[in-house]
Amino acid sequence: ARRAPARPAATREPGGEHGTMPVPDDQPLPSPVGDVRFSGVHYAYDGGDRPALNGLSFDLPQGGAGALVGRSGAGKSTVAYLLLRFIEPDRGAITVGGRSLHDLSPAPWREQVAWVPQNPHLFHGTVAENIWLACPGASSESVERAACQASAHGFVQALPQGYDTVIGERGARLSGGEAQRIALARAFLKDAPLLILDEATANLDPESEVLVQEAMARLLPGRTALIIAHRLSTVYRAGRIVVLDQGRLAEEGTHAGLMQQDGLYRRLVGAYGRGGLA
Ligand code: ADP
Repeated sequence: ARRAPARPAATREPGGEHGTMPVPDDQPLPSPVGDVRFSGVHYAYDGGDRPALNGLSFDLPQGGAGALVGRSGAGKSTVAYLLLRFIEPDRGAITVGGRSLHDLSPAPWREQVAWVPQNPHLFHGTVAENIWLACPGASSESVERAACQASAHGFVQALPQGYDTVIGERGARLSGGEAQRIALARAFLKDAPLLILDEATANLDPESEVLVQEAMARLLPGRTALIIAHRLSTVYRAGRIVVLDQGRLAEEGTHAGLMQQDGLYRRLVGAYGRGGLA
């Protein structure tokens, strides 16, 4: 018989197995979040001479998936860090549903955002705890359901103690594809309206790659998503492609529309296989 994942005793709630959703410590934001808009955003690390973002403007419509593509160093991760409020723009504005991101408290804002990084951090704890941290009020059933949605349930069950298996500080026991599926399970559990997904650049084994792609496809509907895309299949699927070059918007459009132009996107696609989209 299948065992339900264990939940840390200290966080069990009087209501029993079905925990309640966490209540943000500030005014909750309306859900969905609304359109995301970058307007003339500048950002330079350490006050450096060469800005990482140099007057970047683009829109991400509510409920749509946008793929951010560009060469390494183009500024893609910086866009994600700004949206997550790890850093603040030097100039320009980022608005969400018409409200300036700057005016929102970072903690409740981050409740609205699920972030799936390339190399997710897996802390020393059980698999269940590693998923559960995305929504500490969630029940063990919800943790397992999120793992199923993320195509993680199968490999978790095959681990020596299933969901109770302790994984190392750096997730040493899990492959890159498995770690990313744990991160996707966190995103399913968090159920946030805005998703920032940084696709793994490292080669996943073919089975993991298919499972990650399928899980992503299940996660996207109904959410506004910014995908730092490194795979053509992901880029094709995104309704909107935003092409960055040296911290600026180079081009924007659909795959078909951009392929008709003799621009950077077409060159990046042409270079695909030699790391063009990385
Ligand atoms: P991408 O994600 O497209 O590869 P990044 O946003 O990581 O691009 O980087 C944009 C620019 O900012 C690059 O020139 C990069 O070297 C620089 N950069 C990124 N992170 C840092 C950092 N922590 N400190 C200094 N410079 C950085």
